[in-house]
Parts: sequence; structure tokens; C-alpha cells
Amino acid sequence: MKIGIVGFGPFAQFLAKTMIKQGHSITASSRSDYSEVCKHLGIASFYRDMAALFESDNDAILICTSILSLKQVVKSMPFHCLRRQTLFVDVLSVKEHPRDILLQVLPEDSDLLCTHPMFGPESGRDGWKDLAFMYDRVRIRDEALCSSFLQIFSSEGCRMLEMTCEEHDKQAARSQFITHTIGRILSEMEVESTPIDTRGFQKLVQVKETTSKHSFDLFSGLFIHNRFARQQMESLELAFEKTKQKLQERLKEEQDISMINHH
Ligand code: NAP
Repeated sequence: MKIGIVGFGPFAQFLAKTMIKQGHSITASSRSDYSEVCKHLGIASFYRDMAALFESDNDAILICTSILSLKQVVKSMPFHCLRRQTLFVDVLSVKEHPRDILLQVLPEDSDLLCTHPMFGPESGRDGWKDLAFMYDRVRIRDEALCSSFLQIFSSEGCRMLEMTCEEHDKQAARSQFITHTIGRILSEMEVESTPIDTRGFQKLVQVKETTSKHSFDLFSGLFIHNRFARQQMESLELAFEKTKQKLQERLKEEQDISMINHH
């Protein structure tokens, strides 16, 4: 396939490596200059100007910008430069937000596939086998093109999960958002490994380390553009208070007992 990538940050570069290995032809465009990175990866063209990417006759345009910048990036997309029907795909870690924005602005003849690879440069370092890949065929008419794209992931052994963007956002708020939030809290606490780490604690340190490698733009995007995340933040706070309260009640009981024994 000919794939044009918009937004060539860490996650886009990670995906591009496997796509190139599979023999796809990649071009890229981004706000910053990635011409050297592209040369290094064996990508023939890096365009500073999105119009040149849109004119370059792609089968698919893959949107890999940050969640927070999506609206602005999409607004500046020169759709009139498209030479033919193009499949638009996004990989943002929230799904209702890009679906809504893209459905508003995409040309009527462009298909839309909303996806979320549930892994990144860390977890997918040694291959993508058994890692989850979520997708929603939001507006697909060219079935062949859509399945060629999905094959990039299925052929690497990903667990292919088709679900609606809404269902994704509900589940991701309860899983990924909580993981990132706990990771950030542990990082605020400057939690570090000790010589007497338990297995459980080692896992917590790992959560802290992997989540803090992601940009703060990504983390805040998970909160701002997933309508189910606010609820989760509130239940986290509530659960913390309840847990603290249970301990304090128990502490009080113990203190009362020792007071009685003392007298
Ligand atoms: P990110 O911080 O979420 O996004 C970085 C990308 O956004 C870069 O391409 C950057 O362009 C672009 N960008 C940021 N602000 C911009 C602005 N104002 N105008 C234009 N472009 C802007 O980091 P990421 O980890 O590479 O993630 C990219 C996307 O993939 C995100 O939507 C994320 O949710 C999704 N995703 C990430 C992972 C992961 O493990 N990292 C996994 C699944 C999905 P420049 O670099 O050119 O400045």
C-alpha cells in the first residue's frame, strides 16, 4: 500500500518501521522537520507541506498527531489536493473525538477507519504478536482497501478487536486512563525501586516508568477528550478516600482498645 502519515512523532515512527518491513511505501508530513529521521528509516519523502503529501496519490492517510492537536491539524488538511478516493485512518488513543471531527470534515467519498493499537514502542518492542488492536469501521465502502490496511496488524499476530468508538472509550477510561493516572501519581511521589522490592512493587515501578515515557499531551488528551474519563477520576478519588477512611477507623479502634487495656 501507499500510506501517507500525518504527524510523525514517536508512535508514527514506531508504526512506520513495521510497515516498511512489510514492504509498504511510506511518506510523511509533520509540524516539525523529520527529514533526517525519514532518511534513516528509508522513507523516500518527508514533506513539510501537507499539500504535497495529499497530492502524492496515497491509498491511505494515517493520522498520528496528538489528541490535543487533532482539531487544528484536521482544519489545515488540504482535502482538495487528494487525487483519488482515500482511506483515512486514525490511531488516536481516544476514539469518539477523532470519529466526530473526521466525519464532519472528510470529503464524502473518503472512507474512515478509526483504530487504536493498544501498544506502543515499549510494549511492542519485540513484535506485535498477541497485542490488541481495536478498530471501528466507521464509514467503509472500499472493503478491499480497508482489509489491506487491517492486514498490516493481523499479519503481525495482533488480536483484532472490532468495537464501536463509544465502547472503546468506556473501556479505555476504566483501563488505560487509570493506568496512566496511577503511573503519574507514582511519579509525583518519586517512587523508586528498593533492594527489598516485592513482585507487586516491581510492577508498580514498571507502570510508573512506562507511563511517564509518554508525552503529557497524550495523558491530558486521554482525560480531556474521553467523556468517560472524568467519571473514572472521580471514582478514583472516592476510592482513595474510602480506603483511607477504613484505615483510620481501624486505627481508632486499635487505639481505643489499647487505652482500655492501659486503664
Ligand atoms: P503525542 O505527543 O501524542 O503526539 C505527537 C505528535 O503530535 C507529533 O507528530 C507532533 O508533531 C504532533 N503534534 C503535537 N502538537 C501539534 C500541533 N499543535 N500541531 C501539529 N502537530 C502537533 O505522541 P505519540 O506517542 O507519538 O502519539 C501520537 C498519537 O498516537 C496520539 O494520538 C496517541 O494517542 C496515539 N497512540 C500512541 C501510542 C503510544 O504508545 N505512544 C499508542 C497508541 C496510540 P511534531 O512532532 O511534528 O511536532
